Amino acid sequence: MTVRFYNTLTHGVEEFKPISEGKIKLYTCGPTVYDYAHIGNFRSYVFEDLVKRYFSYLGYEIKQVMNITDIDDKTIKKANEMKTTLEKVTDTYIKAFFKDIDTLNILRADIYPRATRHIETMIKLIEALKKKGYAYQKGNSVYFSIEKFPDYGKLANISRDQLTPGLRSEADEYEKEHVQDFVLWKGKKEGEPFWTTPFGDGRPGWHIECSAMSMKYLGEHFDIHMGGVDNIFPHHENEIAQSQCATGKPFVNYWIHCQHLIVEDKKMSKSLGNQYTLADLLDRGHDEMVIRYLLLSTHYRKLLNFSFKGLEQARQSLKRITDFIFSLKGLKPGDGESAKISDFLKENESGFKENMNNDFNISGALGIFFECIHYINLNMDNLKKGDIENILAYIARINYVLGVIKGSESDTPDKQIMEKIALREKARQEKNFRLADAIRDELKEQGIILIDKPEGVRWKIEKTKT
Ligand code: AMP
Ligand code: ZN
Repeated sequence: MTVRFYNTLTHGVEEFKPISEGKIKLYTCGPTVYDYAHIGNFRSYVFEDLVKRYFSYLGYEIKQVMNITDIDDKTIKKANEMKTTLEKVTDTYIKAFFKDIDTLNILRADIYPRATRHIETMIKLIEALKKKGYAYQKGNSVYFSIEKFPDYGKLANISRDQLTPGLRSEADEYEKEHVQDFVLWKGKKEGEPFWTTPFGDGRPGWHIECSAMSMKYLGEHFDIHMGGVDNIFPHHENEIAQSQCATGKPFVNYWIHCQHLIVEDKKMSKSLGNQYTLADLLDRGHDEMVIRYLLLSTHYRKLLNFSFKGLEQARQSLKRITDFIFSLKGLKPGDGESAKISDFLKENESGFKENMNNDFNISGALGIFFECIHYINLNMDNLKKGDIENILAYIARINYVLGVIKGSESDTPDKQIMEKIALREKARQEKNFRLADAIRDELKEQGIILIDKPEGVRWKIEKTKT
């Protein structure tokens, strides 16, 4: 089975073929650290995490780089507003970013290069572009001349005459020769940090940062580049132009872009008060894994309409999975295993993969997995020890891809709960029913329901944290 997905560069669904067998070099556009990330950003990061986890589940060895934009107009503005240094501002939001991605169970990238620590690499790239005649200097600024690159617009599917001044104009780039040209190096301005270079004092443009840092860590030609759809133009279009002109080689084989998230049918904005951060949702009592589930369960090429009703539905879906795990772990089965169950699991897993291989069809994949839960629930009383082990191992594999159940919850039930159940069993054997009932009530308070069966006690979770 091969993985097929939509490649923005070729505007069609394609079969994925890595440059090196079994290996993937992946670059994902990271945060601009001038504020806390919002749930729209997390939609992109969670989707990127899903793709990475899926390829890793298939056995690929992945090297992922995610940049941190710690210098641009917004970070500088914030530092000036707060009357502090750029570094203090960016450090605060970098820390918050890492805390949030860990909370959302997003696997860490291998490298998080910061733009301000890679100025030398950017300078070299700009020099190469100047030398080859793709870039020109105006004052202390350096621009990329898009007429020198005939493929410009290929990624965004924009023809030359569609590149109107309105699309491209940026107030501070008045010196460039053609309105479509974009800035590689911004000449020094009062009140802005700057670096001294052969072409004058100043700071890098945003686009050059991603070309320089991706090629430094992944090589001049790598497999996959991802980001949100807003990154397609001009950011990724410019990355392709800069990188290919500097190296004379193809830059990236596959570009994957995640559609945006909106909130209750409206675009997110500070003025509407709907630009939720992760902390906003956690403060309202929502569970981080429910938030992750909601963010990943809509197909990445569809607009995700975030709503509190949707969050409740996500909570219920996730609860079906966690209840299922707890029920399985509460069984006291006899030895053995049945071919019927292992065949069923194999078939279910290949259905899950078939959907994921089809442009990361997550809704289809989740649907298949819920069919498994339904089927096993119907056969719960006939399961043998080996069956349960097989089912739990299967869930662990699926959860490796989804990442919606954190560590201990998917392994063994809480140690404290296990101890309480053992204590209650002992009390019952000693006919201390008052204590046994008290423990049962206490567990019920925590949402753990005990079911006494002739073969022993079972438990299931009645409610999950919201
Ligand atoms: P930024 O911090 O603005 O550079 O964005 C970081 C990442 O979040 C980029 O990949 C963006 O494309 C993505 N992004 C920004 N806004 C949204 C949104 N509303 N929905 C999904 N992704 C977004
Ligand atoms: Zn980028």
